[in-house]
Amino acid sequence: MLRSYLCEERNGFRVYCAEHDLAFARTTARAIETAGASLTAYFEVTSLPRIRAVLAPDRDRFDALVADLLRVQIERPSDPRRIAQPQRGDIVLLSPSAYAEHSSYEYVPDDYRRMISHELVHVLQEQLSPNIEESPLWWDEGLAVYLSEQWRTASQFCFREQVLRDVRSKRIPALAAAFSDPSLAYSFGWTLVRFLEQEHGREAIVAAVKNVSDGNVLAALGENPASLEESWQAWLRNTVGREA
Ligand SMILES: [Zn+2]
Repeated sequence: MLRSYLCEERNGFRVYCAEHDLAFARTTARAIETAGASLTAYFEVTSLPRIRAVLAPDRDRFDALVADLLRVQIERPSDPRRIAQPQRGDIVLLSPSAYAEHSSYEYVPDDYRRMISHELVHVLQEQLSPNIEESPLWWDEGLAVYLSEQWRTASQFCFREQVLRDVRSKRIPALAAAFSDPSLAYSFGWTLVRFLEQEHGREAIVAAVKNVSDGNVLAALGENPASLEESWQAWLRNTVGREA
């Protein structure tokens, strides 16, 4: 399936691309190296798993790779907001050269680097977790948005903007909703992970990733939902809501 692709090989990982995407393949390889260094340090592991990233040159080939290489079900043609899909050590990406015609986004180098980091968090978490199937969505996406730093700045993905908007207009969700509603898992998950890390420290977050097998992250951190809800919501109002 990758026979027609060129391959950019680095220490421990490979990036496949069409000939016209070689520059983006190198950009991708550098992004994997940089994010990999900080994430392996965060999670205290010696190296990334063997990564294979593929830049699909258009929407049709993106969908085909997700379905046939990753064996992940995908609607076809897929949503133009879908531009990356990880599965074990593989990451299929829509090449930035195809964004204008085949996605809802434009290529912004910082957004692209952070998105690669986001996908690497998923890859590492899947490798480290004793039971990724039970891991809740708010925790998976919260870790990915938080550790990739997508929450820090305004971007096309609006991870930061949506939280600031909701907090300032007094639409802070209930904790139960943040845990059960997939769109809130994406928008508010990072705030929970950031708050929990601030309260318990990096080591506790890493221990939860490596040890929680029943999905009950809060129990592993010694949190109960009622008191967490109160302190998290207060922190959103008093800290996050006042950040620039
Ligand atoms: Zn994600």
